[in-house]
Amino acid sequence: MKTIILTLLTIITIGCNGNAQKESKATSKFEVTKTDAEWKKLLTPQEYAVLRKGDTEKAYSSELNDVEESGTFVCAACAKELYRSEHKFDSGTGWPSFDRAIEGGVSYGTDSKLGFERNEIHCAHCGGHLGHLFDDGPRETTGKRHCINGVAMNFIPDAPKKE
Ligand SMILES: [Zn+2]
Repeated sequence: MKTIILTLLTIITIGCNGNAQKESKATSKFEVTKTDAEWKKLLTPQEYAVLRKGDTEKAYSSELNDVEESGTFVCAACAKELYRSEHKFDSGTGWPSFDRAIEGGVSYGTDSKLGFERNEIHCAHCGGHLGHLFDDGPRETTGKRHCINGVAMNFIPDAPKKE
């Protein structure tokens, strides 16, 4: 009899957890959530391909690759602040590269699209695909290379300092 009651209790408990999980699954881990169709309307075809489909832009295709002035790189989809110009370095790869992100700006996942695992970098706010993280960055700083698609970002120059 005790066993039956325990079994029943277990079933009831699992049942509750099951429901709870379903509910939390419906809400994404990212704050900004839109349907595919909504993103398509909001983004240019190039932005959509990279941010929502994980494509990689052609090397040297982004004008952000050459930005040297001081400012902030923000997500092209949701305007979240991602990278600062002082952490940008010339990696010679043809993609904007940074040795670190603004804290809380990006999150990481795993991508095995090319047959091996790479650390994928997402916007922490909307989940948009930004690029990949490598360990061959400048040794004198972090040793990390955030290899980012320029099309996934917009650049906001710092306001000129008031004298
Ligand atoms: Zn974003």
